[in-house]
Amino acid sequence: MNRVLVPLELEGSAPLLGACMQVVSGETMGTTWQVRWLRSDTRSEDALRAVIQQELDLVVAQMSTWLPGSTLAGFNRAPRGSWHVLPEPFAEVLDAAVWMANVSGGAFNPAAGALVNLWGFGPSPRYTDPEFRMPDDEAVQATLAHIDWRELRWDASLRRAHQPGGVRLDLSAIAKGHAVDRVTHRLSRMGIHHALVEVGGELRGQGYGVGGQPWWVDLEPPPALEGASPLACTRVALHGLCVATSGDYRRAFAQAGAHWPHTIDPRDGRPVRHGLASVSVLHQDCMWADAWSTALTVLGPDAGLALAVEHRIAALLVRRESHGRLIETLTPAMEALAG
Ligand code: AMP
Ligand code: MG
Repeated sequence: MNRVLVPLELEGSAPLLGACMQVVSGETMGTTWQVRWLRSDTRSEDALRAVIQQELDLVVAQMSTWLPGSTLAGFNRAPRGSWHVLPEPFAEVLDAAVWMANVSGGAFNPAAGALVNLWGFGPSPRYTDPEFRMPDDEAVQATLAHIDWRELRWDASLRRAHQPGGVRLDLSAIAKGHAVDRVTHRLSRMGIHHALVEVGGELRGQGYGVGGQPWWVDLEPPPALEGASPLACTRVALHGLCVATSGDYRRAFAQAGAHWPHTIDPRDGRPVRHGLASVSVLHQDCMWADAWSTALTVLGPDAGLALAVEHRIAALLVRRESHGRLIETLTPAMEALAG
């Protein structure tokens, strides 16, 4: 049986009947982006593509772990004891990330860059390099000394952060969602109120699609193991709503007889291994959908579910049981959208 999720409230803007759909796409943050919008005027695709790319480039220039010249990379290299006033978009994302770190007891950690890198999911070494070997206990323990987000002494009012020495920020778990929000807001300021914005699988739908329909999106189910029955399809009406998904199956490597995904539990310094295959979160803001989906993925099927319920987060958790069977759990806020 398929499941359909619809928002509880309608947005103010009326559907654009008779308008045709336009699509532009490109690349950013090591992945792809795509924007669909309803065209009611003669604005050219090229002009729109340039505006969107400008917003995405701003996020990369400030928050990329990969770009040596980014503001974030500069912070990561900065000397011990230095203070850094951050530009507004960076500050907004770091503020949300620090909140998420506090609320999740450090399961979500924007200062875990050194750990992410140690496990091959940062700039260097890469887990895809043929000579890459997973780190030993000693290296993990040594790196845990450099991931305390509280030592950033983040001051939101002054927008400044402290580099305690050797701390590497990594905002990859939240920046894509923020990028989706930025692009949507920019389009809205240009008078485009009916759009579906996607960056690397994180999506935000505003207004309506063709024929007054909401923007329908199917959630990607985690792959079922051979012989196990696949999950039912979950279809969401993204009308003033965003969805982000984190999973243990996308970027991962196999070594020492185990599967090591790119989501790291900063509390023990190792990639998560609790059998949660994927977490999808629906939220009004994509930045929060993105942050929550990663936080719940780290916390796992029990603690993650409990925190999501406590904060009334609409989440769909998929866990893998023995023999590869996939089991879904919906939080009450998610159940409410299923009618
Ligand atoms: P996402 O796909 O949104 O779940 O983000 C995953 C990315 O976030 C990883 O590739 C890492 O760069 C980073 N990351 C991994 N573990 C954590 C964590 N516990 N807290 C914050 N960011 C993390
Ligand atoms: Mg995320």
